[in-house]
Amino acid sequence: MSECRYTRARRVDEAVAALAEAKGDAHVIAGGIALGILMNEKLVSPTWLVDISRIEALKGIVRGPDGTLRIGALTTHREVEESPAVAAAQPMLPEMAAEIACGRIKNRGTFGGNLSLADPQGDPPVAVIALRATMRAAGPLGVRDIPATEFFRDLYTTALREGELLQEVLFPPLAPGAGTAYGKFAARRAMDYTSTVAVGVRAVVEPATGCIKDIGLGLGGVGPIPVWARATEAALRGMRPEPAVIDRACDVLVDEIEPLADHLYSADFKRHVATVILRRTLARACARAARGVEARR
Ligand SMILES: Cc1cc2nc3c(=O)[nH]c(=O)nc-3n(C[C@H](O)[C@H](O)[C@H](O)COP(=O)(O)OP(=O)(O)OC[C@H]3O[C@@H](n4cnc5c(N)ncnc54)[C@H](O)[C@@H]3O)c2cc1C
Repeated sequence: MSECRYTRARRVDEAVAALAEAKGDAHVIAGGIALGILMNEKLVSPTWLVDISRIEALKGIVRGPDGTLRIGALTTHREVEESPAVAAAQPMLPEMAAEIACGRIKNRGTFGGNLSLADPQGDPPVAVIALRATMRAAGPLGVRDIPATEFFRDLYTTALREGELLQEVLFPPLAPGAGTAYGKFAARRAMDYTSTVAVGVRAVVEPATGCIKDIGLGLGGVGPIPVWARATEAALRGMRPEPAVIDRACDVLVDEIEPLADHLYSADFKRHVATVILRRTLARACARAARGVEARR
């Protein structure tokens, strides 16, 4: 067995310094769930582990005076699910976190670890895309902001550069008239992490006309990376969510995604499921927007 160096960082700059010194050979460890599995399966063999789990600056949930919600990278899925501040500012997030695995995974797995893993089946990536969050990275040159829509680059690959770690995620306040919803299909609820399809919808509806003024659509489980469904957004933006418009948007979505067949489902079945989940989730988001539930929070 090869030697592995271990650094328990207490501050962000300590972690960044270790990552810089390692020149790409170190792995950050947060909750350790995914990394532990990858190491057990010998898919990664780190020579240096930089443990960030004790860095206080990476923890916590804060809603700023302008309504921006900040979620530290080490915030657990359980904390996202149960935080009143998150529920008030971004109700899609607890709805999304409720769909993640089981209690033990939620208690240990971190929001930042999940996003940095960039698993195409992950739930948080879907939400950050739909909600147009900003990913704040800390690195040797300081802090850098990356739009969530540009963060997921390839299979298990993010826009984080060598020596950078994800520090926090910033969510802009929802616009007046916004409604959000999260929908997921999973064969077996808790542990079926490999064959899922998820859709996050943020719809801003004009009360006078019922038209969708703005929309954010994220999808998971329908390609090698979490998907920003730009073309489907364009098919819905400015339109009333009537059956013909939604049918057309579903046709666009089917062309926009590239699901991979797996041990349970064919790519075509996942395409179909994605359209079903889009219809249901869009309807919930628009109904919430019409009731003004989320804009009043
Ligand atoms: C059985 C099972 C079921 C699951 N089901 C779901 C599910 O339904 N939905 C879902 O979304 N997820 C699911 N997960 C994933 C889980 O929720 C965790 O999010 C995931 O394991 C990563 O979180 P972590 O904190 O353990 O990260 P780690 O394992 O510590 O790290 C993951 C990767 O990210 C890197 N990393 C960690 N933190 C940072 C950071 N701040 N900056 C830069 N890089 C970083 C690490 O180097 C590593 O490469 C499941 C996992 C298991 C084992």
